[in-house]
Amino acid sequence: MEHTLQTESGCLTYRLERKKVKNINIRIKNGGCISVSAPAKAPIREIERVLLEKETFIRRAQSRITSLEELAPPPPGDDENERCLALMRELVAELYPRFGFADAHIPAIRCRDMTSRWGSCNYVTRSLTFSSRLARLPRRYAEYVAAHELAHLAIHDHSPRFHALVRSVLPDADSRRAEMKRYALTKRGETDE
Ligand SMILES: [Zn+2]
Repeated sequence: MEHTLQTESGCLTYRLERKKVKNINIRIKNGGCISVSAPAKAPIREIERVLLEKETFIRRAQSRITSLEELAPPPPGDDENERCLALMRELVAELYPRFGFADAHIPAIRCRDMTSRWGSCNYVTRSLTFSSRLARLPRRYAEYVAAHELAHLAIHDHSPRFHALVRSVLPDADSRRAEMKRYALTKRGETDE
């Protein structure tokens, strides 16, 4: 349920979930939303006291997430699309054989300035599309997105089986995925496609 807390520097809107937890936990989700989990009996004023105590941390975390919407733009004259295409071709060529797909042909790759998602996979035409902004991120995240989209050639949802497949190729895929959330492309913060 959504709550709003007035503070001296504005208001904090947070989503409260009552759970079987010992402590009041605050998390800043993708896109900067505040998510609070609290024990069933914790009074609202206790929850809000904790929120106030952590307000600085919360605001800082939120601005870190949303300011990355404008991921450092490329220098003038730089063809980010081309740079991204070269990078993703290299990563896909490296990763593709590790999946052990029956089809030996590497899928077609395109890059364009997508701002809604980092990548997408059309498994019918076997083509992958990547956001050219991946070229602005540390390579390990571009590599994660490449592995993620390649895995969709075999599994089309985000089931545990899907994530297990990505991990079979990149064992630390889960931590890369979690770390990437701070590079939310949009305020809605979808890192996944
Ligand atoms: Zn996906």
